[in-house]
Amino acid sequence: MTQSSGNIFMVVAPSGAGKSSLVNALLEKDPSLALSISCTTRTPRPGEEDKKHYRFVSMETFQALRDQGDMLEWAEVHGNFYGTPRDRVEQALSAGTDIILEIDWQGALQVRRHYPQAIGIFILPPSIEALESRLKNRGQDAPQVIARRLLAAGGEMAHASDCEYVIINQEFSVALEQLRQVICAARLRYTAQSVRHAELFTQLGIRKPLSTA
Ligand code: GDP
Ligand code: ADP
Ligand code: 5GP
Repeated sequence: MTQSSGNIFMVVAPSGAGKSSLVNALLEKDPSLALSISCTTRTPRPGEEDKKHYRFVSMETFQALRDQGDMLEWAEVHGNFYGTPRDRVEQALSAGTDIILEIDWQGALQVRRHYPQAIGIFILPPSIEALESRLKNRGQDAPQVIARRLLAAGGEMAHASDCEYVIINQEFSVALEQLRQVICAARLRYTAQSVRHAELFTQLGIRKPLSTA
């Protein structure tokens, strides 16, 4: 079996829509997926661990990493800086592993410039009211931080059209299943299957696409 390049899945959503909960539940069901750990200048929330949830860095370190070209993309979101380290993504792709990036829409546009085949999945809340109550119930951000995130949500959601897929996270289990289906569909694409099952394709007399021939 020949190895195909991994997929890049970009999960994009306004804060509180449920992206981290969905991605964490997905990873539990599918440990073959890799997760990109972003660098951020944001202070850790209670319970957040360095190098597990984020790599928490100072502004100076962030700038140094960015200026060295270590970030695949970076953006300022809600007054903090966030960026995707390039090495983990490149390692995953060359190992044929699928990788998930939880990033904002600005980052998603930058990733797409490098990897036009990256797959965007936008997570929407069922309503603004639900978004507000999720942010409040999560109980991890100060009221002014929540207010700032809610204010930004409309502008962020206008970028849902940048993504190939949209999942409405009303019933968590339904949204999780839909996320799994998107990932499954990407893995069944012709190019991926023809590389993964090259021998069978040859036996069956199916021509390989020119890019992998
Ligand atoms: P949450 O969205 O409520 O979980 O809040 P976070 O503080 O963890 O993340 C804030 C925002 O930063 C998220 O909505 C992401 O879209 C964005 N973000 C996180 N990591 C990255 C990254 O590596 N790159 C970019 N561009 N944005 C990121
Ligand atoms: P994000 O990573 O997009 O900011 P989180 O995954 O932290 O969002 O989810 C925000 C809050 O909403 C969390 O407290 C989470 O438990 C809750 N939540 C997520 N999905 C649902 C859902 N379908 N129904 C109700 N609450 C949800
Ligand atoms: P939070 O601070 O609540 O963890 O994240 C706030 C926002 O930052 C979210 O919209 C999240 O998707 C975004 N974010 C987190 N990591 C990255 C990243 O590496 N790159 C970009 N562009 N956005 C990120």
